[in-house]
Amino acid sequence: MNLAELVDPTHAQGDVKLFRVKDELRAALAPARRDGATIGLVPTMGCLHEGHLSLLRAARAESDVVVMSLFVNPAQFGPGEDLDRYPRDEERDLRLAAEAGVDIVYAPPVEAVYPDGFATHVEVDGELTGVLDGDPSRRGSGHFRGVTTVVTKLFNTVQPDVAYFGQKDAQQVAVIRRMVRDLDIPVRVEVLPTVREADGLAMSSRNAYLDPRARGQAGALSRALRAAEETARAEDLDAGLRAARAELDAADVEPEYLEARDAENLTEVAELGDRPTLIAVAAHVGGARLIDNVVIRP
Ligand code: AMP
Repeated sequence: MNLAELVDPTHAQGDVKLFRVKDELRAALAPARRDGATIGLVPTMGCLHEGHLSLLRAARAESDVVVMSLFVNPAQFGPGEDLDRYPRDEERDLRLAAEAGVDIVYAPPVEAVYPDGFATHVEVDGELTGVLDGDPSRRGSGHFRGVTTVVTKLFNTVQPDVAYFGQKDAQQVAVIRRMVRDLDIPVRVEVLPTVREADGLAMSSRNAYLDPRARGQAGALSRALRAAEETARAEDLDAGLRAARAELDAADVEPEYLEARDAENLTEVAELGDRPTLIAVAAHVGGARLIDNVVIRP
């Protein structure tokens, strides 16, 4: 495959190339890289929705070659989490990826990513991975170790110029940015806004778990965050968190956490200051664990 084939706009509507073998993917990308083409990577766990598509479209607009990875990463699921029932539909994902102009889908089998004897991990220490979802009573820092390990492997395999992530997973973004900085990984990290349903619910593959009653309740998360931002700006952060809590209570949603933190280093903040403040929420609604957040910029 040569560069012309890879970046030919005529195959933007349907001619996506699927790779399952790392070495074949690398070989396919080598000519493009040699010719100076820019490579954009969008890591996903599939079951694509508009949130994923927004990342793919941004990558398409900014890169010569767009690679989407499709891998439900067991290492980022804890015991008792939803690895087994995580929704999967590769055929549909390939179609949507093709429509979004993706050139290459990389969908390796689990054994290829974690072969026998796999023993190396990439871990961001400290508060970044120890709070919010990383709190030991919640998903724990092991979740982020799974994320940073697989993202490093994807970076090494694809060697993208730019990698695209969603603000929906705010803590993941903070952790990946820190990893890229600390390990001098030569990639630019682009973060795109959270894409939402009409009622504000952040799009997520896990929304598929919501039955009609839970789907109704789930809208409370984004309402709570909107209330938090408005009230925090009008009064103060404490009042903002109370307003958010009231929205959740009204929908009978008990948050796992509802916290205000520095958006970059995730240290706790008591007041809006001169740095962006993250308000993050997680809650079990029906059979789904949902997360959402808003960043209040000064
Ligand atoms: P996932 O397949 O859930 O691992 O998500 C793959 C990428 O899509 C991650 O960078 C997510 O942050 C991003 N993403 C997921 N949901 C949304 C959304 N509603 N809006 C924007 N990006 C999203």
